[in-house]
Amino acid sequence: MPKGVEYKHTINIPATKYYLYRFEDSLTSVQFKFVLQSVDKHLEYYVAQGKGDQVTIRTLVDSYRAKLTLQAVYPDEVHEQTTEFTEGAVKQVTINAYERDPKARAACIDKYGSICKVCDFNFEAIYGSIGKGFIHVHHKVDIATIGKSYQVDPINDLIPVCPNCHAMLHTGKPAMSIEKLKQIIDSSNT
Ligand SMILES: [Zn+2]
Ligand SMILES: [Zn+2]
Repeated sequence: MPKGVEYKHTINIPATKYYLYRFEDSLTSVQFKFVLQSVDKHLEYYVAQGKGDQVTIRTLVDSYRAKLTLQAVYPDEVHEQTTEFTEGAVKQVTINAYERDPKARAACIDKYGSICKVCDFNFEAIYGSIGKGFIHVHHKVDIATIGKSYQVDPINDLIPVCPNCHAMLHTGKPAMSIEKLKQIIDSSNT
């Protein structure tokens, strides 16, 4: 699992839970991501075999991934917003799931690049190679207006922003518009 490769032998649910629990504890978050990738591949393999979906495991992987993303993204809000495991029950994550969706994120960054669309901050330009590709993705659509059949459109609904601008966008509920935040920056710079 830590190599991120597919395994074909199905591990039962309690064992998978135990492995993930131990790996999360003993590995770095980068290594743990490979473990999750490996489980993902196994799930795909399992589905491809026509054996149906392993819902419990998938939910588990999703919540670990959400937890990882939150830790990477909002280190000081993890306390409030993290996914917690309490006696096997998974509490709901409160931040926008569309901003955590890896596929949608990747499509958005492919289109717009990883430079903040509010203030033009470029992590690679400032931090060098460790900042390459680092950016938050903000979901512009108000969650309250989203119906059940909503599918995120990575090009029209998502936008790359730096963590500072992202935090400022979310000072309001619903989040402030990109244009509005740009105006605020402009007016405070004059
Ligand atoms: Zn910014
Ligand atoms: Zn956002």
